[in-house]
Amino acid sequence: MLDNDKMTALALAPPAAGAMQKLADDLYWIRFTLPFRLNHINLFAFDTDDGWLLLDCGINAAATADQWQALLDGPLAGRPICGIIVSHYHADHVGYAGALAARTGAPVYMGAVEHKQAQWGLGQTDGEYAAMMGAAYQRFGLADTHIAAAQNAGNYYRFLVGDLPNVTIVTEKDQFITKAGCWQIRFDAGHSPGHMSLTDSARKLHICVDFLLPRISPNISARLRDLDDDMLADYLHYLDSMMDCPADWLIIPGHDWPYFGGGVRAAQLAAHHAARLEQLCTMIGDKPASTNDAMLALFPFEMTGHEVFFASCEARAHLNHLVTTGHLQHADRKNGVDLFAKC
Ligand SMILES: [Zn+2]
Repeated sequence: MLDNDKMTALALAPPAAGAMQKLADDLYWIRFTLPFRLNHINLFAFDTDDGWLLLDCGINAAATADQWQALLDGPLAGRPICGIIVSHYHADHVGYAGALAARTGAPVYMGAVEHKQAQWGLGQTDGEYAAMMGAAYQRFGLADTHIAAAQNAGNYYRFLVGDLPNVTIVTEKDQFITKAGCWQIRFDAGHSPGHMSLTDSARKLHICVDFLLPRISPNISARLRDLDDDMLADYLHYLDSMMDCPADWLIIPGHDWPYFGGGVRAAQLAAHHAARLEQLCTMIGDKPASTNDAMLALFPFEMTGHEVFFASCEARAHLNHLVTTGHLQHADRKNGVDLFAKC
């Protein structure tokens, strides 16, 4: 019996390496390792009349190639790969898309916004990317060591993402037809600018990918291309729309485990961001603060360079939201560092 006020994990172990775990008649769960603190990603295979339709790809790395090889030689063997869907432009989802398309000959499906974003990321030279990161970190007021590291790192996105294949752009008018169902496409902004989730409402199945994760809060980051953009407003709007998700729908995420109780989770995540916004408002008080100050308040622990990127951009997204909602304003820059002050 499902409780309306609780999240309930699906009682099913994650798939082992090289194996798939059945989630519905025509939907299979795959798990790949990732070399980050978030150490895995969930990928999916749909059974269709034309063969296997895959959802998401992993980063562009030798370990990803090996993990696909095990599946292509194992549970996916004997039938063609008829398509590859990419949910969003983040490296762990799109990174291996080009190589996988080349290996299988399958068409790749993506939303236009995410496709543009991935193309833009891949199009930056090492010099351009380093200059942009360095300038952003300077405006954030990060420590000199982080600024220097960013200026020397080149295009980190390109390090994790291979060249894009030809992509077939899909819209919310398109559907993916599988053996036992029909999947409606939905795009939202927040964690990324045009993230795709898939819903089979007749079977109460919602593949939320990275937008409604059960354990961690999806990263909500200011964009390097527009540091003042309020991505959190878009994400809170999405969470609002998911609050009345029925308790008996199975929510299927891109990390961690499938669960019931998407509405409860949406409310938890909204409360999490509200608490962070409140924490920053309290912290800033009478003294203007930088993005670095906000980051240290929200993430008070040792971080790798990779984590500092996400933490600083997430702190900035919260500051931006406090500006657009009239709680904070931009104060005069000091030594090139953006400062935020109470209104
Ligand atoms: Zn993501």
